[in-house]
Amino acid sequence: MRLPKDRKNDYSRDALKNRINKLSGMNGHHLKYLGSSTIDPSLAKGNIENIIGFSQVPVGIIGPLKINGSHAKGDFFVPLSTTEGALVASYNRGARAITLSGGANVLIYRDRIQRAPLFVMDDVLKAAEFIEWFDRNFETIRKVAGTTTNYGKLESYNSFIQGKIVYIRLNFYTGDAMGMNMVTKATHEICRYIKNNFPIESYLIESNLAVDKKPASINTVLGRGKSVTAEVIFREEVIARILRTTAREIDHAYKQQVTGSQLAGMAGSNGHIANGLAAIFLACGQDLANISESGVGIIYTEVTGNDLYISVNLPSLIIGTVGGGVSLPTQRECLEILGCYGEGKAKKFAEIVACTVLAGEVSLAASIVAGDFVTAHEKYGRNRPVPQ
Ligand code: NAP
Repeated sequence: MRLPKDRKNDYSRDALKNRINKLSGMNGHHLKYLGSSTIDPSLAKGNIENIIGFSQVPVGIIGPLKINGSHAKGDFFVPLSTTEGALVASYNRGARAITLSGGANVLIYRDRIQRAPLFVMDDVLKAAEFIEWFDRNFETIRKVAGTTTNYGKLESYNSFIQGKIVYIRLNFYTGDAMGMNMVTKATHEICRYIKNNFPIESYLIESNLAVDKKPASINTVLGRGKSVTAEVIFREEVIARILRTTAREIDHAYKQQVTGSQLAGMAGSNGHIANGLAAIFLACGQDLANISESGVGIIYTEVTGNDLYISVNLPSLIIGTVGGGVSLPTQRECLEILGCYGEGKAKKFAEIVACTVLAGEVSLAASIVAGDFVTAHEKYGRNRPVPQ
């Protein structure tokens, strides 16, 4: 049995229906919703193959979230897409607490994305010679990369040697795109140039040292995508009224949880950064697999008087406002709610994402110490099975 395919136009409504009908016939269930989206399937070309419809996940909104960034300034309403009840309510509470405290400050302190090819030499001496050659020719290699893109710029690299194998981790600036297609194309050209100009035995375009879509220490230490940090000082009265606890209790709980994170061997230390990231990524057309590295974040807290200082650090946040899935209709609309669709908006979006994550962190910590962790989920987030 093969799935129907239309060689001329596989993104037409008919091509989609043919596949849906085939699947309905196979399992006896009428697939009423999957194939009946109002969105034209041809708009998904470049984002999906063998399309059978659009997955409709609920989208909620939080805000206003006050941000004092270099690129995001003002009050924002942030769309979050999830099936986890209580998530939006919790992030909304955190956003309220941030806004009433005067807003979150946020900074992007590094911005670069990687591809990491490997090159095999005859022996370790040749490997050393290659690194020296690569360094001497870096300007030319940078120009070679530049022939493949108008926006991507090869900025720097880190080299690693294992015997006769050299790993080069290339760092690119990719404008408003998350950039993985862009840097892969550029790296392909670089590999071809090297093969033609230095006696290598073989190469791989990716060695796994990039590290794309995996959590890894190198992403935390050297950065991947946007490295962003945000902070806020919660005033005593806001903590009491909105978060129903105290600065000391939240600070104390976080310090105990750092030890829990260490005992667990956790990458980073945070309550649920991946929750907010997944919800905003899904709503705004980001590549969900990049939550693997984007979700590795670190929280710091400190009591100042009766107020609470809290910061979040996201060393490897992978986002874009052009390319990938951002132009799909609902994803574009969600970015437009934030004023973040298209050129010149990636840094603004990254700042909003970091502050959103901070809202979720403080709200979760407060609910754990105030004892409403279970009741909130019981109230908003339980779904008993729907009869078949
Ligand atoms: P893309 O959609 O492949 O390319 C972005 C396009 O936008 C490029 O053509 C770029 O021009 C153009 N562009 C216009 N204005 C721009 C601006 N202001 N800043 C940056 N670019 C601008 O996007 P991508 O970010 O490179 O790749 C994202 C996709 O790669 C995602 O869908 C992700 O899932 C996928 N991905 C690919 C790989 C891989 O190995 N190939 C791995 C992981 C994920 P130029 O053509 O001049 O650069």
